[in-house]
Amino acid sequence: MTEISGPDPLVRLEGVNKHFGPLHVLQDIDLSVGRGEVVVVIGPSGSGKSTLCRVLNRLETIDSGSIVFDGRELPAEGRALARLRSEVGMVFQSFNLFAHKTILENVTLGPTRVRKVPRQQAEQRGMELLERVGIASQAGKYPAQLSGGQQQRTAIARALAMDPKMILFDEPTSALDPEMVQEVLDVMVGLAKDGMTMMVVTHEMGFARRAANRIVFMADGQIVEEGSPSEFFTQPSTERARDFLSKIL
Ligand code: ADP
Ligand code: MG
Repeated sequence: MTEISGPDPLVRLEGVNKHFGPLHVLQDIDLSVGRGEVVVVIGPSGSGKSTLCRVLNRLETIDSGSIVFDGRELPAEGRALARLRSEVGMVFQSFNLFAHKTILENVTLGPTRVRKVPRQQAEQRGMELLERVGIASQAGKYPAQLSGGQQQRTAIARALAMDPKMILFDEPTSALDPEMVQEVLDVMVGLAKDGMTMMVVTHEMGFARRAANRIVFMADGQIVEEGSPSEFFTQPSTERARDFLSKIL
C-alpha cells in the first residue's frame, strides 16, 4: 500500500477537542489526510465520526487544537468560510436534495449561485457529471421521482459540481435499500481511482478494502487505531477494534 500522506497533507488536525456539554466527543484528535488519499473512518455509533466530518467543514466549531486545510487554518466566518465549504464537498446519509428543483437544477445551483458560473456552462458541466454518475437520463426529473440510489448519485454529482478539493461522505449508503448500495459505492470507487481526496464514514467493509488507503477506527471520541486495510482487517492491534470487527464482518 502506498503511503500518500506526505509532508504536505490536504488536511491536518492536531490536538482537536470538542465537547457537547459534558460529553467529550472528540478527544485530542490527530489526523492527516494526504492529497488523493481515501481515508475510511469506522467505529461504533456515537463514537464521534459524524462530528469529525462536521468540524472539517466547520459545521461545528472546535474547543481546542488546530485544523489546517490546504495550508490554512480553518476560517471562522465570512468569505473564507464560504470558500472552504465549496472546497470541501459533503455527502450525507439523507441525500438533502432540493425537492422542488430538478436533478439538473440541484447540480447547477451551487455553481451558478456561489461561483457565478453562467447558466449554460453550468448545465453543460452538470450533464457531464450526471453522465459520470450514470443518471443523465433523469436530469429533468424531481428527486421524489428517483430511487434512493439515484438520489444519492445526484448528491455526489452536486458535490463534484463545485470542483471540491475533498469530499466527505458520512454513511452515504446507510439509508439505501440493499440493492442500491452497490451502485453508489461503484461511483465512489470511481472517484477514488480518479484521485479524489475522500474521507468516508461507512460500515461497508467491502468498499473499505477496495478503495481505502487507510482505515481509521474511532471509539468514544478517540482514534483508537489506524492502518492500511490489509493490516487492519487481518490483524487489528486493539481489543476494541477486534471486538467491533467481530460484530460487523
Ligand atoms: P457517530 O457519527 O460516530 O455515530 P456522532 O459524531 O454523531 O457519532 O456523535 C457523537 C456523540 O455526540 C453522540 O453521543 C451524540 O449523541 C453526541 N452529539 C452529536 N451531535 C450533538 C449535538 N449537536 N449536541 C449534543 N450532542 C451531540
Ligand atoms: Mg454518524
